[in-house]
Amino acid sequence: MTIKEIQAHLKDGSMTTRDVVDGYLARIEAEDAAIGAFLEVFAADARLAADEQDARRKRGEALGPLAGVPIAIKDNIVMKGKTATAGSLMLEDYVGSYDATVIERLKAADAILIGRVNCDEFGCGSSTEHSAYGVTKNPVDPTRVPGGSSGGSAAAVAAGFAPVSLGSDTGGSVRLPAAFCGVTGFKPSYGTVSRSGLIAYASSFEQIGPLATTVEDAAVVMRVIQGVDPKDGTTRQTEIAVPAFAGGVEGLRIGVPKQFFAAGLDAPIKAAVQQALDRFVDAGAELVSVDLPILEHALAMYYISVTAELSSNLNRYDGLQYGSSVAGETVEAQVRATRTQKFGEEVKRRLLLGTYVLSAGYKDAYYKKAAQARQELTRTLEETFTNVDVLMGPTAPTVAWSFGMKSDDPVTMYLADIYTVVANLAGLPALSIPCGDVDGLPVGLQIMAAAGQDARVLDTGHWYQQQG
Ligand code: GLN
Repeated sequence: MTIKEIQAHLKDGSMTTRDVVDGYLARIEAEDAAIGAFLEVFAADARLAADEQDARRKRGEALGPLAGVPIAIKDNIVMKGKTATAGSLMLEDYVGSYDATVIERLKAADAILIGRVNCDEFGCGSSTEHSAYGVTKNPVDPTRVPGGSSGGSAAAVAAGFAPVSLGSDTGGSVRLPAAFCGVTGFKPSYGTVSRSGLIAYASSFEQIGPLATTVEDAAVVMRVIQGVDPKDGTTRQTEIAVPAFAGGVEGLRIGVPKQFFAAGLDAPIKAAVQQALDRFVDAGAELVSVDLPILEHALAMYYISVTAELSSNLNRYDGLQYGSSVAGETVEAQVRATRTQKFGEEVKRRLLLGTYVLSAGYKDAYYKKAAQARQELTRTLEETFTNVDVLMGPTAPTVAWSFGMKSDDPVTMYLADIYTVVANLAGLPALSIPCGDVDGLPVGLQIMAAAGQDARVLDTGHWYQQQG
């Protein structure tokens, strides 16, 4: 069900919040064993919250904009009294002592937190194969990955375990799984949503964002979670207009970067995206071909910068003050044993890379250079947005792959992020919506706009979804 459908049932009395919650819980219970989206289902809490809500409704109390709406939460977002592992053994025993700002806001809006869902360890991955707690399968085809790192969030929505979920997106982690599972995923402009309570991977890149079956539902969640938060100094107000969905796309200037259609893109995906673009053109939008050679370096900038930030953010997990602990004879032995045993292979690989690019003698050649290139990319895109309203292209160069297919050579997996990292490097809002399939496997259309233009991106995506 969509949020609208749920709330229509609540309004006409054909369902209570408890009915809605029981329905989703039953589906999770029956089907999640085969998918593995949830790490924990908050069945008792969700039922209790539902009953309380129904009692309030009966008393005639006004309820919030997410009343009756169950939501699944990525395991790297902290909830008071709940385990939050970020997919890592390092945090296997960590229980949140506070609510992330997004959780506070969801609760205040009367959403029902239905469980926490699987992800790649600390968000590091594109397939959810790097979780310490097992894999999540793609509900469209369980022999394939759901994408990552918010694979559990995407699978939960695709499988009908929850109408909406929260993921986080550092380099595509909301959009890539959304594309692979055939759902809608939105990464807000940097600073639109508070990161307070998000377990950090690369702080200057990431945003929490919603996954849903429609852009409309994603926008409802956005309106609740967005906005300035004193606990995150990088937040700023970006209004998601209410209702955001104004009119047609006549005269919309759609920039189509050549680099998003270059070698490496699977031909059937190119065709599906081209078809989607044609629909915009048929409705009066204008395609503007743009040449942005700097995009060819986006992936390199990204992986240098995020591994640097990761190594710095994960420094705190020393087995002494933060994180799980493995005993050792000396402090050094304890730190070494803890980090060796509690971090997974991919995270360790990135910690080594990140430490290397930040080390004396290499910092200028790698980290600083990547930071400069990132600024240049941001400037180039700002300039591009004086000529076009949005940029469009595929979300990913391939459809969902089979388990293990990209596990031998990490770089082949990094390549899946080639189109998504751009928005994170430059802080842009970016949406992935389904636009057809290749032999039954979903394809994602990515829509980006200038920083702060979150509403425009959602508006454009919503228009497309209305075309049926
Ligand atoms: N796949 C990318 C990475 O591993 C993006 C992950 C994310 O957005 N958290 O860094």
